[in-house]
Amino acid sequence: MTSPDRRQVRDLVYQTLAAEGRAPSVAELARRTGTTPADVHHALHDLADAHALVLSDDGDAVRMAHPFSAAPMAFVVTPQDGRDDRRWWGGCAWDAFGISAALRLDVRIDTACPHCATQLSYRAGPGTPPPGDLAVRFPRPADRWWDDVVATCTMIRTFCSRDHAELWTAEHASGEGYIAAATTVWELATPWYGDRLDPQFEPHDREKNQQLLDGVGLTGPFWHLP
Ligand SMILES: [Zn+2]
Ligand SMILES: [Zn+2]
Repeated sequence: MTSPDRRQVRDLVYQTLAAEGRAPSVAELARRTGTTPADVHHALHDLADAHALVLSDDGDAVRMAHPFSAAPMAFVVTPQDGRDDRRWWGGCAWDAFGISAALRLDVRIDTACPHCATQLSYRAGPGTPPPGDLAVRFPRPADRWWDDVVATCTMIRTFCSRDHAELWTAEHASGEGYIAAATTVWELATPWYGDRLDPQFEPHDREKNQQLLDGVGLTGPFWHLP
């Protein structure tokens, strides 16, 4: 009995999410890697420990492989090409741009403003920034993102405007979080997520990711990675 290569499992998870918008099951990964479900289970837990993906609460299924989510979340990502039937759940405002960046695809992103519940539908792509009036609120500092990464993503939302993000914050989480322009988050998503589907993908180290945040002007203690 051979252990599946962690890299092979990771790549199959990403390829399946990209192509089909769903995560492969443990049994499917075992078949495709020629190993056993127990071996795949170990590989998935190692990958989760390394933050290469996120498992479900019960630890037996892939929940997220950033920027992809295996379950419905607040963002729906649709290819702009009407002949492309794929759809994805974006875990957060940043992930939705990340899916476009990783797939190098022009997309429409559908969500709702948490403050006023207006349905927002905006376009973005590798060469197309989102509308300049949209704002994205990050709920907690970078060194706490992975305390509960699904909860963190759930709260990284797009608002109609900075004004609405500020009003929401005053009402629900006074003094907490950080409000960025959606264009800044879009700009960050390309270098952060653009290489996730590359065959030669190498996980970024902390220093590299800190540079990417610095590069778009997200600096200061809030953005200090652990
Ligand atoms: Zn609003
Ligand atoms: Zn996210």
